[in-house]
Amino acid sequence: MADGLVMFDPDGRLVLCNAQYRAMFPKTADMRVPGADYRDILRASAQRGEAITPPDEVEGWIAGIMASQKLVSQRQVRLADGRWLDVRTRPTGDGGSLSVFSDITEAKQVETELLALNEKLNLLAHRDGLTELWTRRAFDEALAREFSRARRNAAPLSLVIIDVDWFKRFNDHYGHPAGDECLRAVSRCIQATARRPADAAARYGGEEFALVLPETDARGAFVIAETLRSKVRDLAMAHAGSEKSIVTVSIGVSTLDADGATMEIADLLRRADEALYGAKAAGRDRVHGWRPHLSDQRSTGSRRKI
Ligand code: GH3
Ligand code: MG
Ligand code: MG
Repeated sequence: MADGLVMFDPDGRLVLCNAQYRAMFPKTADMRVPGADYRDILRASAQRGEAITPPDEVEGWIAGIMASQKLVSQRQVRLADGRWLDVRTRPTGDGGSLSVFSDITEAKQVETELLALNEKLNLLAHRDGLTELWTRRAFDEALAREFSRARRNAAPLSLVIIDVDWFKRFNDHYGHPAGDECLRAVSRCIQATARRPADAAARYGGEEFALVLPETDARGAFVIAETLRSKVRDLAMAHAGSEKSIVTVSIGVSTLDADGATMEIADLLRRADEALYGAKAAGRDRVHGWRPHLSDQRSTGSRRKI
């Protein structure tokens, strides 16, 4: 549809308009004629349910539009029937105004669809496809954010790393699809355990998960990790390849607290990893917190099989 044009005199009386302008307002086309007062047109538009107006504020709404006629302005208007109009207004030399109305409904629809699509893509980029937990990349960002926040507020922050025990054997025995289902079940336990809004759970690697717990000291994190360990045990998923005969997890915990003034994110990760290694070495299906002597036992690198 072509643009609608309308001109008003300094008193707000309609001087001239084109047919497109009147066609854009079918409910008040009869009033949009030369000589009509813009205030009466707007009042009718509100009364006849054409314009969307703030309830009980019609006069204020009209005053706002009348004031904007005196300025160079551009606004987008949504009509009650769902159409969107773009309105560009310029004052004329004699103190009146000239406005151009364009129907932008289609462009608005595309914009809304694009926004929804963008949101979906964002979600896909940040959520792991199998478990719907955060991806490692999103988790790294969350950890960096929470780490600096903890530092700023001198608040504790704990990191928990969870690894499924003898998972290769599980896959070998029950098949990869069953393995995937098992990972989903474990991730549901993680989500059910870390329930505070700021807690962030991620799939950190294949069968390895990570959890960042802001405002949580070592003791609190240990309790949460133990709760998670029991939840996974309570699933009672058969695991023929494990001496426990059910699916279990080993968990390592590290904490940034008042003693950790010189600690970096890498140290927090390394410590959780070392604690996890300790839990594996001690027989799996257990939670280990990081202790200073752990660093002496093992330098960084991949976890060895024990
Ligand atoms: P440990 O108790 O020492 O952790 O032993 P593990 O067998 O769990 O550890 P390992 O690292 O040797 O094996 C991990 C296995 O996880 C191997 C890999 O095939 C499996 N895995 C990784 N990602 C996925 C996945 O997305 N789906 C399935 N089904 N298996 C996966
Ligand atoms: Mg494992
Ligand atoms: Mg592993």
